[in-house]
Amino acid sequence: MKLFKTSAIILLSVCVCILSFSINAARALEIEARYCTITYSSNDELREFNHDLYMGRLRSRIKSNGDTVRDEVAAKINFIVEKVMAVLDMFPPDIRFSIVIYPTEDEVQQIFYKIYHVKVDYIAFFSPSKNTVFYSVNNINLRVAAHEIGHVVVEHYFKISPPQRIHELLAQFAEKHVTD
Ligand SMILES: [Zn+2]
Repeated sequence: MKLFKTSAIILLSVCVCILSFSINAARALEIEARYCTITYSSNDELREFNHDLYMGRLRSRIKSNGDTVRDEVAAKINFIVEKVMAVLDMFPPDIRFSIVIYPTEDEVQQIFYKIYHVKVDYIAFFSPSKNTVFYSVNNINLRVAAHEIGHVVVEHYFKISPPQRIHELLAQFAEKHVTD
């Protein structure tokens, strides 16, 4: 009986390893940006994400540390985080979170279902419990990026999370004023 229990535990941990390996292997590429780790699955995906995250007249204010697509994406996200903090007038110290980029909203909705067991039609979302923003490449733009980062800043600023409606209003405010 004891032997059986031990082998069951080993089997279970092997399964967990395989599962976490397959999740990581699928989205193995990472960028360490100033405020977050950005995970994505291919260079083409990142190139498209960078292209669609068009900064308009804010472009000249973004300082990249290099000239690769990775540097450019990191610089844009850094800028958006700082701009959203300024717009909301909320500067949480040591803000740190993750971004995961998926190809389409289908994967974003599947991950939402995995976390919350609720079906939604979201194109992007922030999960406070995972401290992670999920974006889809085919829906990314500056406003969507700023909206979710608005949620991140609000969540990190308040000791007690504000009510959902207030959270949403503040994220919408960040989205609207990120281009000011
Ligand atoms: Zn929202």
